[in-house]
Amino acid sequence: TATIGVLALQGAVREHIRSVKESGAYAIEVKRKEQLDEIDGLILPGGESTTMRRLIDSYGFFEAIQKFGEQGKPVFGTCAGLILMASSIEGQKDAHLGLMDMKVARNAFGRQVASFEAELDIGRIGEPFNAVFIRAPYITETGVEVEVLATYEERIVAARQGQYLCTAFHPELTDDNRIIAYFVSMVEGTLQTVAS
Ligand code: GLN
Repeated sequence: TATIGVLALQGAVREHIRSVKESGAYAIEVKRKEQLDEIDGLILPGGESTTMRRLIDSYGFFEAIQKFGEQGKPVFGTCAGLILMASSIEGQKDAHLGLMDMKVARNAFGRQVASFEAELDIGRIGEPFNAVFIRAPYITETGVEVEVLATYEERIVAARQGQYLCTAFHPELTDDNRIIAYFVSMVEGTLQTVAS
């Protein structure tokens, strides 16, 4: 059984923990970087990316998370977590963790539609999937290794690059666990590779 950590510095932590458990994996709240050694996959939750980045730095997580990913361990970023994973951010000089080869725009759906729900067709995960967007970003450019998993009004809102997965919306806020379950299966896949 896979153990999945949810970075618990800020944001929608508890909801991810519930969803991971309901998907049949162990879930722990990660508050110290040493805990990364105890987990097989990491979720970067939604919240506020600038605040989360500040906390990532003050708790010494920055290089530790990059190293975690470089070992081939899966990382899943939702909303602010997606922003943290991008290699480039529209209108900003610096990005954050740079795990995925993509450019993102923050708060990109505009003020009037700050929060909304939409039915998405997510090819390998579920159709339709009811997605909850909250001051969501979207992906404006992707590198060749990035696979687009879902779009909403022609904007990219879910993607995967190897062991990295991200969604602009919040899959943990509904009872539909299919995306978290998909991430759990990505993590379980890496455990089988190690064992054989
Ligand atoms: N707009 C937020 C940010 O830029 C993300 C919002 C969210 O995670 N729900 O960090």
